[in-house]
Amino acid sequence: MKYLVLLAVLAVVYGLWRNSQRRAAPPPMQARPAAPPAIPEPMLRCAHCGVHLPQSQALLKDGRSYCCEAHQRQG
Ligand SMILES: [Zn+2]
Repeated sequence: MKYLVLLAVLAVVYGLWRNSQRRAAPPPMQARPAAPPAIPEPMLRCAHCGVHLPQSQALLKDGRSYCCEAHQRQG
C-alpha cells in the first residue's frame, strides 16, 4: 500500500513536470505572422457629386477632391 501511494505521488509529479515542460516550449502556432492592423484612412468628399471616398482613391485638384476624372474636369 505504501508503494502504491508513492507511485501515485510520482505519477502526479511526473504529470505536473510534463505540463510545465510543454508550457515552457514555444507553441508553434504563434510563429505565424499576424495580419497588419487596418489603418483608418481619411474619407474625402467629391466636390462635384458629394460622394465620399478614401483619400487614396480621390483625385485632388486645386485643394478639392473628386471621385473620378470626369468630375475633376467638371468641377
Ligand atoms: Zn464625383
